Amino acid sequence: MPAIEVENLTKRYGRVWALKGVFMSVEKGEVAAVLGPNGAGKTTLLKAIAGALRPTGGRVEVVGVRVRPGDPRVKSLIGYVAEGPSFFPELSVEEGLRIVGSLHGIGGEELRARIEDIISELGLGPHMKRKYAHLSRGLRRRAEIGAAIIHDPPVLILDEPTLGLDVFSVIALRNIIRVFAKKGKAVVIATHNIAEAMSISDRVFILRNGVVIASGSPKELRRLIGAEEALIAKVEGDAERVAETIPTALGPRVEGNTIILTGPAHECLTALLKAADAVGARVVSVTTKELTWEEVFMRLLEKRSREERACQCPLGGR
Ligand code: ATP
Repeated sequence: MPAIEVENLTKRYGRVWALKGVFMSVEKGEVAAVLGPNGAGKTTLLKAIAGALRPTGGRVEVVGVRVRPGDPRVKSLIGYVAEGPSFFPELSVEEGLRIVGSLHGIGGEELRARIEDIISELGLGPHMKRKYAHLSRGLRRRAEIGAAIIHDPPVLILDEPTLGLDVFSVIALRNIIRVFAKKGKAVVIATHNIAEAMSISDRVFILRNGVVIASGSPKELRRLIGAEEALIAKVEGDAERVAETIPTALGPRVEGNTIILTGPAHECLTALLKAADAVGARVVSVTTKELTWEEVFMRLLEKRSREERACQCPLGGR
């Protein structure tokens, strides 16, 4: 049984369909990242998984339990850290954790031991007596995660966990997430940091216009665009016209007198030479480089747009 199962999930806000039929499955011990442009539906999806909103249609199950907002069983299964601050500003880290623990019905020695573990795991020892409001952003994030896992849930949902954090805090948080997953828990993060998502996740879901347009391991996503590398060619002549003559499926981009293509290497080279010949330009040099994750992400979005245009589906399928 997967830790998280999302089936045909929809959410409508007035006239806006934020989710248009999302399918998603995350196993125990996996870290899953939800990526997508602004307004794609990431926060809405995470809220629906966490039981923080009522979907319009579809189904979410966490370790086999149907998620319904307000159901105390669901609260015990999920730790959710929303985008904004979610702790008691005037309380110390330790006091805040104690209150959240009590709200989950944990008390006495069990709660004391749990707080001690969390404070040590999250490196909050030197800060446990400090007021949350006085902590740096990175430490606040850790305190919020501490509150989200005080009841030891099998699933942790984090919305933009590293937004605005420095590199040290990002690395610390990544380690925290990995340790959590190693214990057999499932973690879902929504982020705009594509490279980070790819480095930490076992599975990535790319959301656009309320639907998952691509999913898989980072390696599988690279394979989906049919290219691991970009071909970089310097040309003498009108680079813009050469690029315009190359099939858009190869994602031609121009930077000065350089043309960058992403697609199967032999196809790129053949198309480049043909296009240069057609417009009377000359290819001076050709090199390759590994695609950045941002380029992979952009290519996947473009690929989906092309497919939709080709089958004349309305954007997002609804
Ligand atoms: P971002 O990357 O900008 O945070 P997102 O991918 O998290 O965006 P959502 O916040 O889930 O996207 O929003 C998806 C769509 O639903 C957007 O069109 C947004 O304007 C709309 N939306 C979200 N919340 C509400 C709401 N409470 N009322 C009305 N519309 C909403």
